[in-house]
Amino acid sequence: MEDLFKLRPELLGSKVEPLIRARAEAFQSASAAFRFSVTPYYLSLASSESLCPIWMQVLPDEREASDSLFDQPDPLAEEAHMPVPGLTHRYPDRVLWYLSHNCAVYCRFCMRKRKVSREESSPTAAARKAALDYIRSHSEIQEVILSGGDPLSQSDRVLENCLKQLKEIQHLVSLRIHTRMPVTCPQRITAEFCDMLESVAPVTLVTHFNHPNELSDVAREALTRLRKTGNLILNQSVLLNGVNDSVEAQKELNLGLYGAGIKPYYLHQCDEVNGVSHFRVNMEEGVRIQKELRGRIPGPALPQYVIDLPGGGGKVPVDSSYLVEGGYPDPVFENYRGDLFFPRGDHP
Ligand SMILES: *Cc1c(COP(=O)(O)O)cnc(C)c1O
Ligand code: SF4
Repeated sequence: MEDLFKLRPELLGSKVEPLIRARAEAFQSASAAFRFSVTPYYLSLASSESLCPIWMQVLPDEREASDSLFDQPDPLAEEAHMPVPGLTHRYPDRVLWYLSHNCAVYCRFCMRKRKVSREESSPTAAARKAALDYIRSHSEIQEVILSGGDPLSQSDRVLENCLKQLKEIQHLVSLRIHTRMPVTCPQRITAEFCDMLESVAPVTLVTHFNHPNELSDVAREALTRLRKTGNLILNQSVLLNGVNDSVEAQKELNLGLYGAGIKPYYLHQCDEVNGVSHFRVNMEEGVRIQKELRGRIPGPALPQYVIDLPGGGGKVPVDSSYLVEGGYPDPVFENYRGDLFFPRGDHP
């Protein structure tokens, strides 16, 4: 962590120096379990005044090591639904394919904390072949989602190779890439990468901005390059205590993304993962924030608030609270201002 001060010497003597040192010291005990890494670019976004939302996402916290609330390393049972190494097949129609377990930045709230950064957990060429064979032989699969870790920590050549082989599989309707590189290392979104992405269009690229401070000029330029490839670009974020759990932060983030031509897709409830409890926000509070947002930003700028059900149940929306009383056919809905409405739910 001394490197932080080498990369940003002005942090020495700043208000955050003692805070960073205290965190580093307290983290010693957890460093065997969870890795720490940040890019110089992402570090440049962090404040020297306070532990801002950028620091909160990357700086280790002693609570990671003493998290007794959840002892589950794999709460979503991703490993249990793994027919071949590196492939999670939970929903009948789509699979998650982990192309890499490395990331540019290790986010402290990561739900795959158990395995990101572990060299030995990265899929080999043989595992990639086994995954492709599995996808080929299961015609019920319609979409393949490249995930990780960060799939963009693989070379363009490996990515192109995988994408082109997937393109040849007749029963696949769409391909998706989940990556945080536009946020943590926008320099990875090179002209060459974009040319490759254009050559395999259409694919859907889902990025992961959590806070408006991450929408820097450099990141916006990367998003513009991505949009020019003619592919659909979405964003998913995680609701995080102390980072983005306010109407203001959510409004600025989602409006900023929408203004940059990116559709906010999901807002995730933080998973029940070991070492991340201190990031969790009450669902009731999450619902309140969502409710206030609706009606205050354009509809297409609103992400859907979802929870990934523990045990591998899949994702469901956390939005039932608009329905405040009774049920169908006589529902009572509450709108973003808290007013009640009584639409007819039957078919007259
Ligand atoms: C989240 C997830 C997906 C993708 O779900 P969408 O709702 O299509 O975005 C697919 N498989 C698994 C195992 C997942 O956790
Ligand atoms: S980029 Fe994604 S997979 Fe990697 S550490 Fe962050 S949240 Fe986890």
